[in-house]
Amino acid sequence: MLHLKTVKTIKSELLNLKDKKIALIATMGALHQGHLALIKKAKQIADFVIVSIFINPLQFSPNEDLNKYPKTLENDLELCAKEKANLVFSPSAEEIYPQGQNITKIIADSKLSNCLCGISRPQLFNGVLTIVLKLFNIIKPDIACFGEKDYQQLLIIKKMIFDLNLDIEIYPVEIIRDLDGLALSSRNKYLTKEQRLEALKIPKTLLTAKDLIQKGQNPEEVIKNLWDPCFEYFEARNPETLKKTNDFPLRLFICGHIGNTRLIDNVEI
Ligand code: AMP
Repeated sequence: MLHLKTVKTIKSELLNLKDKKIALIATMGALHQGHLALIKKAKQIADFVIVSIFINPLQFSPNEDLNKYPKTLENDLELCAKEKANLVFSPSAEEIYPQGQNITKIIADSKLSNCLCGISRPQLFNGVLTIVLKLFNIIKPDIACFGEKDYQQLLIIKKMIFDLNLDIEIYPVEIIRDLDGLALSSRNKYLTKEQRLEALKIPKTLLTAKDLIQKGQNPEEVIKNLWDPCFEYFEARNPETLKKTNDFPLRLFICGHIGNTRLIDNVEI
């Protein structure tokens, strides 16, 4: 497996791969089975799988966890090699933003971004789209896999691809969970043992709500009855438009704060 850190070296490597179907898995590192599921999916479809590991400063607001975001590069490289990824690209912030953050940015579709995570994290999706488009332009992948764990992000990336006529096929991958139901996340590393237990109320609430809604209860009522003070949001939304809805099709979205850790999860109904 190749490990490259500069735009110049990866571009020159890619010259040798012109006839290959290339997949990109964009990550911020601290890899876990959720990320590995994306690599596995890509291995089924593509000839050459590239994993990018880059903690993107552009998508963090000043009060967020940019500086403490977990960094486990050696372990990440081992995991990628085990999954038979072909190349890991782990550039520095200076490599990606040589002129700092005062750069041209992509603006996310406001209908999709002005809700859920976009409310409390106003820089998030513009920052994500800007780095994703930069990675697409550097790597020129044929396909890219993104996780449904970040469902709003997935829709916003798909919309950018449509709006900007990008020739990249997006493959969504289902949420990978721990045995007890907690969605895997690099941020789970922040949780103490007690907080890890407390965090289970997020997937448990989603499952209970799903069950009650499937039995015919009104989603709005269910959400009101299951509301927990740790929730930043708990909402039923249309899975394509993200408009608030009380009718099918719908998807439930939760963001909860466990201690200082902000966790998100969602479930299809
Ligand atoms: P991140 O490193 O958190 O930016 O995530 C990189 C990619 O992995 C994104 O497409 C995420 O949606 C995906 N991902 C993260 N956690 C999971 C999970 N538990 N299940 C499926 N995909 C995930």
